[in-house]
Amino acid sequence: MQELDSTQTTHISIVVPCYNEEVSLPKFLEEITQTMRGIKSLFPQSSPQNNLPFYEIIFVNDGSRDKTLEILRNMQDCHTDSDYTINVYSFSRNFGKEAAILAGLQKAKGAGVILLDADLQDPPSLIPQMIRIWLDSKREIKVVYARRTTRAGESKIRAALSEMFYKLSNLISEVKIESGVRDFRLMDREVIDALLEMKEYHRFSKAMFAWVGFKRQCLEYEYIPHFKGASSWSFWKLFKYAIEGIVSFSTAPLRIAFVVGSLISLFAFGYGIYRFVFTLLYGNLVPGYPSLIVLISFIGGIQLMLLGVIGEYIARIYEQVKMRPIYILEDLKNNNTDSKKSTQSTRSSNA
Ligand code: UDP
Ligand code: MG
Repeated sequence: MQELDSTQTTHISIVVPCYNEEVSLPKFLEEITQTMRGIKSLFPQSSPQNNLPFYEIIFVNDGSRDKTLEILRNMQDCHTDSDYTINVYSFSRNFGKEAAILAGLQKAKGAGVILLDADLQDPPSLIPQMIRIWLDSKREIKVVYARRTTRAGESKIRAALSEMFYKLSNLISEVKIESGVRDFRLMDREVIDALLEMKEYHRFSKAMFAWVGFKRQCLEYEYIPHFKGASSWSFWKLFKYAIEGIVSFSTAPLRIAFVVGSLISLFAFGYGIYRFVFTLLYGNLVPGYPSLIVLISFIGGIQLMLLGVIGEYIARIYEQVKMRPIYILEDLKNNNTDSKKSTQSTRSSNA
C-alpha cells in the first residue's frame, strides 16, 4: 500500500446512501465492521504521530421518513472503535440516490472509496476481495466493480424492463453499461477526483462511472434479496432514472427525431405531389377529407413527439443553467461541524 498523501486522512472511505433504512442499518454496521476488521492487516499501522483510523464510514441520510437519522446519530454517539470513524450527513429532503452518492463522494477523504447500499444487497463479503485486487495491482486497477449474475428474485416485469433499458441505452449511447452492474464498487482516489470534476446537474452515476474510464475489474456474485423487503424505487422513479440514463449520455434521440421528422415530411411532400398530379389527371374524384385528416393528425403527432424529445434536452439545459445545488444538507445542531460550510461550497462549486 502506498503511503497516504497529505490530502488523505484515511485509507478507505465507505460511502452509504440511506433512504428509509432503519431496519437494515444495525445489521449493516455490524457486517461492515466485522469485514473490515478482517483486512486491517493489509494496511500499514498508522504511526504514533499520525494516529488515524484506517477507514471511515460516511452515511448520507437522503431525507428518510423513518428513524434512519436517529439510528445513525445513535451509532455515531455509541461508537468507540478506533479503527474507523462514522460521519453522518443528512439532506433537508429526499434528493434521490444520485445526490446522496455525490454528497458521499465529495465528503470521502480516503485513498480508496467503496460505494455500497445500506440494505445489504451489496454483499460486504466482496469488500476484502475488492481491496486485495486494488492493492495487489499497486493501485493500477482503479475500479473494482460488482456485477450480479442473475436477476432471480426480482419481478419478471422489472427484470424485463431493466434488460430492455440496457439494450436500448447501449445501442444508442457511446457509453456502454453492462447489465447487472451495480453501483457497488471500489474506486481509487483518482477516479473519485475525475467524477467530481463532472459538474452535471442530472447525474447518472452508472454511466458516469463508465464514462471516466480507468483500468477496471469485475467481480461477479449471486443476487441477494432486499433485506428490508422491497426496493425504495417506485416504478415512476425507475422510469425517470431510465430516461435520465438515455438522455444524459446520448443525443441519439435528437438524431432519431430529426431522421423520423425528415422522413415523415418527405412522405407528406411526396403524397402532396401525388394528389396534385392525380387531381390534374383525373379531377378531384374524392373529396379527400379522410386522407387529409389522417395526414394532418399523423404529422401533428410526430411533431409533438419530436418536441417532447427536444424538450427533454432543453429541460436539462435549463436545470443546468439554474445552477441549483444538487442537494442541501440539513443544518442540525448535532450535524458534523463542516455541514453548513459544505452546503455553501456545494452551492458555489455548482455555481
Ligand atoms: N436510496 C437513496 N435515496 C433514494 C432511494 C434509495 O439514498 O431516494 C438508497 C437506499 O437507501 C439504498 C440504495 O439507495 O441504500 C439503493 O436503494 P434500494 O435498495 O431501494 O434500490 P435497489 O436495490 O432496488 O436498486
Ligand atoms: Mg437495494
